[in-house]
Amino acid sequence: MSITSSENVFDLYIDGKAYRPEAATYIDVISPATGKVVARVQNASSVDLDVAVAAARRAFKAGEWRNMKPADRSKVLYRIAQQIASNAPELAALEVAASGGTIKRILGLDIPAVVDLFMTLAEEVKTYQFVEYISPRPFPEQMHSQIIKEPIGVCGLITAWNFPILLACMKLAPALACGNTVVIKPASNTPTSTIRLIELIGEVVPAGVVNVINGPGAELGDAMTLHKDIDKISFTGSTEIGKRVQRNAAETLKRVTLELGGKGAAIVMPDADIERAAYGALFGVYFNSGQACESATRLIVHESIYEPLLQRLKEISETVVVGDPMDPATAMGPMSSESHFRKVMSFIESASRDGARIVSGGDQMSVPNCEGGFFVRPTIIADVDNGMNVAQQEIFGPVLSVIKFSTTEEAMQIANDTIYGLSAGIWTSNVVEAQALARRLNSGSVWINDWHMMRTDVPFGGYKQSGYGREFSKYSFESYLETKAITTSFETNVANKALYKIVHSL
Ligand code: NAD
Repeated sequence: MSITSSENVFDLYIDGKAYRPEAATYIDVISPATGKVVARVQNASSVDLDVAVAAARRAFKAGEWRNMKPADRSKVLYRIAQQIASNAPELAALEVAASGGTIKRILGLDIPAVVDLFMTLAEEVKTYQFVEYISPRPFPEQMHSQIIKEPIGVCGLITAWNFPILLACMKLAPALACGNTVVIKPASNTPTSTIRLIELIGEVVPAGVVNVINGPGAELGDAMTLHKDIDKISFTGSTEIGKRVQRNAAETLKRVTLELGGKGAAIVMPDADIERAAYGALFGVYFNSGQACESATRLIVHESIYEPLLQRLKEISETVVVGDPMDPATAMGPMSSESHFRKVMSFIESASRDGARIVSGGDQMSVPNCEGGFFVRPTIIADVDNGMNVAQQEIFGPVLSVIKFSTTEEAMQIANDTIYGLSAGIWTSNVVEAQALARRLNSGSVWINDWHMMRTDVPFGGYKQSGYGREFSKYSFESYLETKAITTSFETNVANKALYKIVHSL
């Protein structure tokens, strides 16, 4: 169990050790599966944030981490991967208890994915071009330039509650690979797995390189984004808060990366295989109970296959196992909190009011052994118009909105008619046409004949109001580096310096 937890009370972790704020106040962590308190976590104030930022600044200035040879930093990244892999059961149990994500997903996907991510970036960092030499130019005179990529400094990382470990590692891995130091703030309803993760990373990096604080975003988030000694903010969360983050960061012109909301559109072409599209569409929207930014929330279906596909969606949807997230047989757990549950239910009600048709689900579910839990029955809504709330706003629940189309032009127009641009996709037997259609979708990721096809060596991020900057792969390094140009003149005779004549009489 955690070195800083006793009876499920968690301290913070700053400057290489457990940290307990002077004014010890706590935030309760509530299991969304049972409604019961599962842990209590220290609540940081802006004073504690200052302590964390100062530790990160000292570690950055000390230089042990930032000046470490990339090959040596690579070895540390591999050790972090080992730390995570060998503590997987504990990390997963903490995350299930706080977030309601299923043990099947967290142990089967999230932990292996973050281990793989640290190993992928451990390889990338060895060959990444941190220094580039530019060929000398003859004019105006002999000079030589180097382009140097340097770590930005102290990075403030802010993450959402839906995939706590995964979202944290999507930021930690590139930030650390590039030599930065970090202060991370997880969502205050799901902080425990991130705190334990930071303790584990803290064991293998110099003190102060990784620090974690906890507290409500409204106070601590603002304090971070306005902080004068944080150089960069990487934020994962809603588009609404993302805009506030960008406004706050402008005060000190912090570098910013934003991974925000989505309203994924999957187009089902008339030649699609109905069985594959039905299973895939539901995988796209029910994964993590629909609480995924890249979910396939809008299914845009050609009129020729609309009713048969709806029939299969309904049949398959009713077989999805909703239950206790700690049960390895469970496919879908609860909504992550009571307030979020209410929000999802109100979207479903709005669809009925707007004239859409509830084909399956649409109500709360009671789950044995999880009587106080916030479970939504997997829901399919047909005859949705793209102007309706359920088609335009992020529901973040197990709710599929099905929209009918007649022409490919119309399908493209509907798919792109959203403020978001995170994920989009096409179900078809014609993969050649799909390539052309993929170019026309305004989205950071396009998936053909499947969904959630994220790879640690392929960039992921948003177009439009889904944010900017990329995570995963070597492309994530660009968000954690500054670019410096160093140019040296080799002309020793001032009379030969062509541009001096503009100022001097030579
Ligand atoms: P949220 O915006 O409410 O909160 C996200 C984080 O921001 C939390 O840590 C929260 O405490 C913090 N926060 C709150 N107010 C803040 C402020 N004023 N300043 C700074 N930080 C503040 O989002 P959420 O409800 O926790 O998460 C769900 C959202 O996250 C969805 O919109 C989802 O699409 C998005 N998301 C995006 C991605 C992606 O990669 N694009 C991944 C996961 C989740």
